[in-house]
Amino acid sequence: PRRLVTAERRDEDAAETSLRPQKLDEFVGQAQARKNLTVFIEAARARKEALDHVLFVGPPGLGKTTLAQIVARELGVSFRSTSGPVIAKAGDLAALLTNLEERDVLFIDEIHRLNPAVEEILYPAMEDFQLDLIIGEGPAARSVKIDISKFTLVGATTRAGLLTNPLRDRFGIPVRLNFYTEQELELIVSRGARVLGVPMTKDGANEIARRARGTPRIAGRLLRRVRDFAEYDKAPTVDRAVADRALQALEVDASGLDAMDRRYLSVIALNYGGGPVGIETIAAALSEPRDALEEIIEPFLIQCGFIQRTPRGRLLTGHAFRHLGLAEPSRDPS
Ligand code: ADP
Repeated sequence: PRRLVTAERRDEDAAETSLRPQKLDEFVGQAQARKNLTVFIEAARARKEALDHVLFVGPPGLGKTTLAQIVARELGVSFRSTSGPVIAKAGDLAALLTNLEERDVLFIDEIHRLNPAVEEILYPAMEDFQLDLIIGEGPAARSVKIDISKFTLVGATTRAGLLTNPLRDRFGIPVRLNFYTEQELELIVSRGARVLGVPMTKDGANEIARRARGTPRIAGRLLRRVRDFAEYDKAPTVDRAVADRALQALEVDASGLDAMDRRYLSVIALNYGGGPVGIETIAAALSEPRDALEEIIEPFLIQCGFIQRTPRGRLLTGHAFRHLGLAEPSRDPS
């Protein structure tokens, strides 16, 4: 089943372009990142030079693509966008690079997923604005250098550690994005509601923000679904009660957990006394692949302090027991 509260981009999120902030000062949160970008963009503009290459690092849905577009707009240059897994051959990237104009922004999402042959092309392109191409095959093969425009590469990745060192070292401006606070998400939801023309109280926006897992993409998705409920119920405005009813119907609870998250926590609580219990055992009990648990379910639960990873397995915290409305078993203090 499709989960409402996971942060990766999906087809239905095409609707989110309408919610995208267009300018740096419309972009909520990430104060440090915004401040640094403002300084570097101003400096590049004043010198009429290409901005140094920028790497955005952070979990999905936090605004990496949005910021990349904003950077191009603030620089007053064109924005080209692609993603690591889409660039199959070195020639595909070469074609993109030769079509850039001076100071353009080329955005590569999921840049850690470039294949190595493609990545090789990128090094001299980033450093010397040159392409090293091999023309022909066998003994007739020769290498040619082609100059390309001085462009800005904006890369996005979920973890910096996924990049090879030589690639990571070529970004002059690394920018880390963090999860958003409830207040920031409340602003984002209020602004989104205005864009969508949905009357909403501050409380209503707060109720959605609280359950959005620190992630604007999830906030936007919840907002659009709450709007559907409110329209169906002919609610004149979305207040806390309307938002709460809609989100309950969508099975997104007060902490932003969905049915799958709660099933995961309940298995550890009820079948294994709160753990520690090995991930393979949990995976078997839930009939879910271990990878899915580790990559999709657990990160948010760990971040919120519902579970801990220990050498002996997953351990449920008191916070999780209280959230489930269960009594915490007394554990040996050993
Ligand atoms: P990422 O590239 O990190 O996965 P996106 O840039 O695609 O994330 O953002 C996902 C959605 O969240 C977009 O609809 C965007 O409009 C919205 N969004 C992200 N960050 C912000 C923000 N700071 N303020 C308002 N909306 C935001």
